[in-house]
Amino acid sequence: MKPITKNQHTKIAFFSTQPYDKTFFEKYNSNFNFALTFLEPQLNSKTVALLQDETIICVFVNDIVDAAVIAQLAQKKVKIIALRCAGFNNVDLEAAKKFGIHVCRVPSYSPEAVAEHAMAMILTLNRKTHKAYNRVREQNFSLNGLLGFDLHGKTIGIIGTGNIGKAFAKIVKGFGCTILAYDITTDPEMQKEAVVFTDLNTIFKQADILSLHCPLNEQTRHLINKEALSIMKNNVMIINTSRGALINTLDIITALKEGKVGYLGIDVYEQEEKLFFKDLSDDIIQDDEIQRLMSFPNVLVTAHQAFFTNEALTQIALTTLSNIESLLSKDNIDNKLALLA
Ligand code: NAD
Repeated sequence: MKPITKNQHTKIAFFSTQPYDKTFFEKYNSNFNFALTFLEPQLNSKTVALLQDETIICVFVNDIVDAAVIAQLAQKKVKIIALRCAGFNNVDLEAAKKFGIHVCRVPSYSPEAVAEHAMAMILTLNRKTHKAYNRVREQNFSLNGLLGFDLHGKTIGIIGTGNIGKAFAKIVKGFGCTILAYDITTDPEMQKEAVVFTDLNTIFKQADILSLHCPLNEQTRHLINKEALSIMKNNVMIINTSRGALINTLDIITALKEGKVGYLGIDVYEQEEKLFFKDLSDDIIQDDEIQRLMSFPNVLVTAHQAFFTNEALTQIALTTLSNIESLLSKDNIDNKLALLA
């Protein structure tokens, strides 16, 4: 493959652009001087055609970057796929390698942003501040139905102790909780901070609250399923700020109907690509599973907003643009996922 070099006409096409992407990327592009094209549609096999002569594309969590789309991108002479997110489960890395396309991502922009949102979900579900807010505005000052529990002394299970899991453990420690953790690798620094690494079954059996922070891959898909749910404590709280398909949606709906799961907080959803980041307030939603989930009084759904802080968006823009710059200048960066043959 011919080397790609940067000049003032180096073009980057953004898919799934939201107004805030444009704001942050335009602001920080002043240090880089790329030519930026912002496209609103999600990337998929139909929207590849929107590319003009851009050889670099920038994509987000719900863009479809499978083998078929990558083959089309290669035909369009795309050389770099820059993810402006940490997770990369939507990209077929083997296909990228086959077509000699670089893939880079932002592995850590603000783990605290996501960890803090996970804690916000726990506090909301537990202390029902969202219901209290509405109630008081209607001059209903009754406390009936708002009973919560102390987090102090509860057992929190963390699955995945990477950047976000670690940041979440620090927050949880401040609340005086017992922390159990599972990861494919044990973290000695966390062990020193009284985090007990154990197996998944022990966590499922002992946790009062379970928070998911591992990536979505073949080992973790539907990690929370009928079998896992059956051994959990009655009234368990489950928080998912990682990827929707870590949870089998139909199984969790059954567990909620049976009262096995007492609280569910999800910032991500298995079929979110058709819903999230869009205003569908005038549409008839065809997805019956999300509608069922939203009908439970003990389920809190947010639309993939855990990353959404000023600090995180700044870091995402800076790292994405500097990843591209590094790939163009030295073809060797830390955040690269697929290497050219
Ligand atoms: P990370 O790579 O730092 O950590 C992931 C951890 O999961 C690692 O320690 C890894 O060893 C562990 N892991 C891998 N396979 C596992 C398995 N089978 N079982 C248990 N643990 C396993 O990633 P991170 O920055 O902490 O992000 C975690 C996930 O959070 C990302 O993959 C992404 O899906 C999600 N995320 C969501 C948002 C949001 O806005 N909701 C934002 C950023 C990231």
